[in-house]
Amino acid sequence: MSADDAIPSLFPAPPEPERRPPPGTDPGPDRGPDGAEPAPAAPGPTPRGAPPDAAKRGTGRKRASRAVDASGVSPMMQQYFRAKKEAGDALLFFRMGDFYELFYDDAKIASRVLGITLTARSKDKDAVPMAGVPVKAYEGYLHTLIREGHRVALCDQVQDPAETKGLVDRRVTRIVTAGTVYEDDLLDRSASNFLLAAAPVGDRWGLAWIDVSTGAFAVSTCPASRLGDEISRLDPREVLVPEARLDGEPQLRETLARVTPAPIVAAPEWTFHLDNAQQLLAGQLGVKTLAGFGLEDDGAYIGAAGAVLHYVRETQRGELPPLSAPRLHDPTRRADLDRATRSCLEILATQREGRREGSLLSVLDETRTAMGARQLREWLVSPLVDPAAIIVRQSAVAELVERREVAADLGRALEQVPDLERIATRLLAGRGSPRDVGGLRAGLLLVPAIKSALEGCDSAPLARASEQIQPMPELRDLLERGLAEHPSATLADGNLIAPGYDASLDELVDLRQHGTSAIARFQAEEIQRTGITSLKVGFNRVFGYYIEITHAQAAHATIPDHYVRKQTLTTAERYITSELKELETKLLSAEERARSLETELFLELRSRAAARGEAIRDLSRALATVDVLLGFATLARERDWVRPTVDDGDVIDVVDGRHPVLECTLPLGVFVPNDVHLDRETARLVLITGPNMAGKSTYIRQVALLVLLAQVGSFVPAGRARIGVVDRIFTRVGAADDLSAGASTFMVEMTETASILNNATDRSLVILDEVGRGTSTWDGLSIAWAISEYLYKAVGARTLFATHYHELVDLAEEFDAVRNVNVAVKEWGDDIRFLHKIVAGGTDRSYGLHVARLAGVPAPVIERARRILADLESRSPDLKPGPSEPAAGATEPDPTQTSLFPRPVTAVMEELARLDPDLVTPLDALLLLRRFHAHLHGREDADGEGEGEG
Ligand code: ADP
Repeated sequence: MSADDAIPSLFPAPPEPERRPPPGTDPGPDRGPDGAEPAPAAPGPTPRGAPPDAAKRGTGRKRASRAVDASGVSPMMQQYFRAKKEAGDALLFFRMGDFYELFYDDAKIASRVLGITLTARSKDKDAVPMAGVPVKAYEGYLHTLIREGHRVALCDQVQDPAETKGLVDRRVTRIVTAGTVYEDDLLDRSASNFLLAAAPVGDRWGLAWIDVSTGAFAVSTCPASRLGDEISRLDPREVLVPEARLDGEPQLRETLARVTPAPIVAAPEWTFHLDNAQQLLAGQLGVKTLAGFGLEDDGAYIGAAGAVLHYVRETQRGELPPLSAPRLHDPTRRADLDRATRSCLEILATQREGRREGSLLSVLDETRTAMGARQLREWLVSPLVDPAAIIVRQSAVAELVERREVAADLGRALEQVPDLERIATRLLAGRGSPRDVGGLRAGLLLVPAIKSALEGCDSAPLARASEQIQPMPELRDLLERGLAEHPSATLADGNLIAPGYDASLDELVDLRQHGTSAIARFQAEEIQRTGITSLKVGFNRVFGYYIEITHAQAAHATIPDHYVRKQTLTTAERYITSELKELETKLLSAEERARSLETELFLELRSRAAARGEAIRDLSRALATVDVLLGFATLARERDWVRPTVDDGDVIDVVDGRHPVLECTLPLGVFVPNDVHLDRETARLVLITGPNMAGKSTYIRQVALLVLLAQVGSFVPAGRARIGVVDRIFTRVGAADDLSAGASTFMVEMTETASILNNATDRSLVILDEVGRGTSTWDGLSIAWAISEYLYKAVGARTLFATHYHELVDLAEEFDAVRNVNVAVKEWGDDIRFLHKIVAGGTDRSYGLHVARLAGVPAPVIERARRILADLESRSPDLKPGPSEPAAGATEPDPTQTSLFPRPVTAVMEELARLDPDLVTPLDALLLLRRFHAHLHGREDADGEGEGEG
């Protein structure tokens, strides 16, 4: 069995490098310069061999066997290609002495991405491209490549070149991928780093995800229609999908790419098989059945769990990181936000720029620890639905709001707590750096203060945390005594152990630092013992330390017997003693021995810490929860938020509600609070009409955010609030508002709307903002009308619909529980001012012309528009679809509608409807405008007509 077979490789065989001639065609190996292990390319199939650099960077060993086998491939070459095969599409970092070398296409990519020089030995067209990075500094390069979406395989020398005759053995020791990194530099402190596997099982998808950096491991299932939402909720760094599925369904990759920027990896089919998965899981968890974890042994998620475990093990070359027991994410107990909702409500990032600043998370994140920041993020996209569970969280927030002292103490301590969760995970994996252990010590030192602050807290979450937070005094004391005060970042840098911890180490360190004083001491002692006052200890390269006594002195004194004469000079004799030689050995090897003893002692400390790894991880999770709850309490107190009443009813009633983000970003006192009332019996559908810029979107989003905050367990920005929990929050914004998303088509708008109509229930909250706007007026109005009706009658969801189709206000005449509200506007003659206050009643004016004027559209255009509007209004007194004319079927253009407008207007509108505004250049827009203008005036415009058509 070859090495390749030992661990079945996840990765496809590497594509043959373009320039590589087929094996056997090699005209003969180039030996490379003497004394160096040749670069893999050198004796290999490329006739010209390796560039000189490769040889220079070689191990410096006598060249390995120069024998080439029948195929003409040298052993070194075989090593390279074997490693490359294992690495698959990962860039291979091939260790050669002090450098990691890359060859062929890998070299070209690395050179481009990293800006390092691409070399080749000759100008010959067959020369092998190569590039290298120094081993000392490789991590920075590696990070850049990973961030740019590449994977990197590290192929290391697994034998010491000094102890090896011939070729040094090399192995791929790790495949570094975005979803399996654990280095802090590559991780976002406030976000999880999930590797996700997803596979279809029957009509559902099974999902499993792991965060290697924290050991989190969870599984779930979802219908195919929710896959995108689940993936985007988890925001993974890498996604595994069965290879055959990706091959068989060409659009799947595209679909996935739309919901996540993470690389999609085609994983072998068999890794998803139930047998493999069950075996891996059983091995990992040490159990025969998963029932104890609340999982089914043949659940749809099991295959995905197997694949994700396999991938992690593959990339870590056999080792599985320390994982927690798998947790089942149960969507029925959560109001998971779908992608569109998260984006519309700007939960984690703003919609247009995708920035964190300006998002709900940015104003809500008062957490003090990295664990807390990650926890908050997860809670926010997955609110609770069980009022009892919500009330439990609220009780802790309330307690922390009330007990200021406790909150202050907790805040002070938590602020200094390092990322214990990731530290513990690294320790468990046998990887913690000296600085990690230092972080652990700092964390443990803070624990007693946290625990004592929590003692006496009554609310369930805090009382539980107080129990879970264990101080581990023995470990803390050990680290206090043992670890250096400011330990280095890496083992190699030394400075690991505190003075006073280990006598032998102290002595060695003392010797190293005070070698001269030890000699001086020895000299003084000898003078005293012998009475020879001019006795001196000296040093030379030939026989090291010696005692020198002048002939003059020697004549009057007795030279001790144990003095061994070493050298006679004209003026003096030189002696050595066994004691002096002992001292010498100590001195000379002190450096080396100090280093190795220090490392040994550190590794022992680290393994003592690692033994408590699981407990530290539990501790850090308890701290995370306290941290998030404390953050909510801070918000409540500093921003005057109130505790909402949360229940199972269907009433959402908020007095003086505020938008949590806008109230922070607008100057103090500028934000206008608003009320809202929704319930299924009397206010199921609330229509918000009013001019653009009045505050409609802000208002409806505010309602959604208040509900979300309440269901996460936070207090809310309002005077008073009652929230009948919702099972889901759905939010959609009409296409025109979403231009920056790229796919700003009406199709997207409708797909998303369809998903609401299909998934919302009578317990959902639906927020629609200008839905229908992405198409022509009459289509849009009809669709908006029909959607409203359907949500009201068939779904029964509580709905807020902001629209500038003021015709919709008539829905209230047909249905009892439809309410019309509008945003108050103050008018002076032709001037208007938005008061941002929601008042009862519908609007019948759109104020579009006012907004156009505010936006700087020239006066003659506004004046002209005003006349056209008056003309239109007088011609078509009743443009809206009414109860007698159900709009549900009106998505097809209704021929009778065209007669509502004069012909030229219809033609212009139709052309506008066909237009994709994103694709029109400013110049084209100008020409088009000119043509429309001419057209509306019954003139043909020679400039525009010819080019614009077609
Ligand atoms: P619309 O959806 O009606 O076009 P928006 O909700 O986008 O209007 O609001 C437009 C602007 O008005 C916002 O950017 C905000 O600055 C301001 N605004 C909205 N609501 C309020 C409010 N309640 N208090 C103060 N300013 C508001």
